[in-house]
Amino acid sequence: MQNDIAEILVTEEEIQTRVAELGRRISIDYRDKVAGDPPQSLLLVGLLRGAIVFLSDLMRAIDIPVQLDFIGISSYGSGTESGAVRLVMDLETDIAARHVVIVEDIVDTGKTLSYLVGNLEARNPASLRICALLDKPDRRMVPIEVKYVGFEIPDKFVVGYGLDFAEGYRNLPFVGVLKEHLYKVVLM
Ligand code: 5GP
Repeated sequence: MQNDIAEILVTEEEIQTRVAELGRRISIDYRDKVAGDPPQSLLLVGLLRGAIVFLSDLMRAIDIPVQLDFIGISSYGSGTESGAVRLVMDLETDIAARHVVIVEDIVDTGKTLSYLVGNLEARNPASLRICALLDKPDRRMVPIEVKYVGFEIPDKFVVGYGLDFAEGYRNLPFVGVLKEHLYKVVLM
């Protein structure tokens, strides 16, 4: 598996340090918001399936009460490009009047998150913010505010730490660039 990686972009140590920082920031930002009467927990909404590794580390770096739910979005795009998006698995939680943070692996064109924010805003949460491990700003097509970003990365196709190619590589502990011939071959 490691032989398929051209270059490591973010090491395991860099990820752990940054995730701890993000967890601290989120804890500070939401401590008062969730301490109301009655108290509520911060709802973390993970995007399946890429965000689950990041989410499981991030939630343990947060020291205020949190609750978890998951949402599934599918894009009709082919290969490594994302196209039109639709909901394939909905939340179980009613998010009305809740403080919600969407946890995503990577923001690329912004289409997925733009769709999701529109969908969730319509349910009247108390607040809605995005936390993404990776951001590829050069690829943005739809403007989107990402409040918490782990790392900005260049326009390269990456795998590992939850990110896949054809459902593989998610269990690599770092974020690496997949060797180009591996995904170019499949696309042809
Ligand atoms: P967007 O809608 O912002 O273009 O794309 C977001 C989704 O595209 C991510 O959730 C992820 O599934 C996929 N994606 C975008 N760039 C990459 C990448 O470099 N590697 C992997 N594995 N997936 C990516």
